[in-house]
Amino acid sequence: MGRSYKHATVIGASLGGLCAARVLSDVCERVTVYERDELPDRPANRNAVPQGRHVHLLMARGAQEFESLFPGLLDDMVADGVPILENRPDCIHFGAAGHVLGTAHRLQDEFTAYVPSRPQLEWQIRRRVIAIENVEIICEGVTEPTYDTALGRVTGVLLDSGDAVPADLVVDATGRGTRLPAWLDKWGYPRPREDTVDVGIAYTSHQFHIPEGLLAEKVVVAGASRAQPVGIGMLFYEDGNWNVTTFGIAKVEPPQTVAQILDLADDILPAHVSAALRRGTPLGEMAFHKYPTSRWRRYDDLERFPAGIIPFGDAVVSFNPTFGQGMTMTAIQAANLRAVIESGEPDLAPRLAKATAKTTWPVWLMTAIGDLALHNATGESKWWYKPVGGLFDQFLGAAETDPVLAEWFLRRFSLLDSLYMVPSPRLVGRTIRHNMKLWLAEKRSA
Ligand SMILES: Cc1cc2nc3c(=O)[nH]c(=O)nc-3n(C[C@H](O)[C@H](O)[C@H](O)COP(=O)(O)OP(=O)(O)OC[C@H]3O[C@@H](n4cnc5c(N)ncnc54)[C@H](O)[C@@H]3O)c2cc1C
Repeated sequence: MGRSYKHATVIGASLGGLCAARVLSDVCERVTVYERDELPDRPANRNAVPQGRHVHLLMARGAQEFESLFPGLLDDMVADGVPILENRPDCIHFGAAGHVLGTAHRLQDEFTAYVPSRPQLEWQIRRRVIAIENVEIICEGVTEPTYDTALGRVTGVLLDSGDAVPADLVVDATGRGTRLPAWLDKWGYPRPREDTVDVGIAYTSHQFHIPEGLLAEKVVVAGASRAQPVGIGMLFYEDGNWNVTTFGIAKVEPPQTVAQILDLADDILPAHVSAALRRGTPLGEMAFHKYPTSRWRRYDDLERFPAGIIPFGDAVVSFNPTFGQGMTMTAIQAANLRAVIESGEPDLAPRLAKATAKTTWPVWLMTAIGDLALHNATGESKWWYKPVGGLFDQFLGAAETDPVLAEWFLRRFSLLDSLYMVPSPRLVGRTIRHNMKLWLAEKRSA
């Protein structure tokens, strides 16, 4: 493919910025990524990515997308100790909205997922981007993009040092706190509409070392529900330790001490898991994080938008993190960017915004319905969210003991299968029959 751009600058060297740089390196003579944070030369937490201290589940689809951007990534991660997760009941304990899925039977179509920590994944990707010949990562903050009123386009970036760097394309990958809406305002463009759900989530995380042999699982998730507004995610990472994240939804505080984490584990995890955790050793310091609002900035809806800049990653859409989909959706945005560039048509930003809206919509809808109907969140709700949430709850109830339904859900939740595919009438019938049978059995034994 020819080089369509001379120089692109990317603001932010987290997962979004790195993926965008990878795609642009194929069509730009030069790509410069600016990052205001220090970038460690090993897997390590960064101050500007505070979420990295909390569990990050990489969906199976995300692993596939990252691998297609960076071939060899998954093998290298495994060589560095990243656990592989077979979708089998002995590897994973997965509870969502008060239901524990797929534990009764092996799922038919097993798929493989990977469990890198957030710092490990970012570092593996960063070192690959650094190795790309025409990409440079510079640790310096960007004050704002430069805008030429006469041309009606963004022309580069102004660095915190005061230097202006010309570029024919700028990527805003500055995360949830992006200032692009304010810059648009300043340049005389409308701000994007924001779709929001007030999820009121608070995270508390602690590392544990659990003696070998006590747990076969590598992922343990007990999601929150209306009745039980706190949850736990435990991931076994490449350093041989468990990251244990507890969270509260709808402004309910999660545990604040190790003793409270252990008590919560006793309440909501299988007995062998909480017993193993009690035998574990807490390591390091506790980390806290608040995530008040899921936010989708609707750039796809704008009638006017300047040329020369594209928003990317969490700067476009940031999902309730307890669903574990943000990194995967960022990787999917990178696939969209590649497809839109390869089509060779003009108006990159609006076409990318539309493509990203198409891939975002079903995932946003699923999480919004889950949050508003089942997780006590507040925000704009459609009349049909509650009944759909109720059906979903029935479906998850049946999926506890029906592997076909569990598999249907897990493949979509992992974003392997499209969420545009709603359950077929056969699956709905199967759900009803399954729940009826359980209800009758309960009645008979009462
Ligand atoms: C608590 C929490 C838990 C999460 N858990 C999961 C999970 O389990 N699974 C999952 O898939 N996703 C999860 N996510 C989402 C995931 O972290 C993000 O989707 C992912 O980090 C991609 O973000 P990004 O690169 O767009 O932005 P960020 O990671 O926020 O990075 C933005 C970068 O831009 C830099 N920057 C900002 N402004 C400037 C500037 N002016 N100049 C230069 N640099 C700048 C910052 O320093 C930072 O490095 C979670 C998020 C949170 C908050």
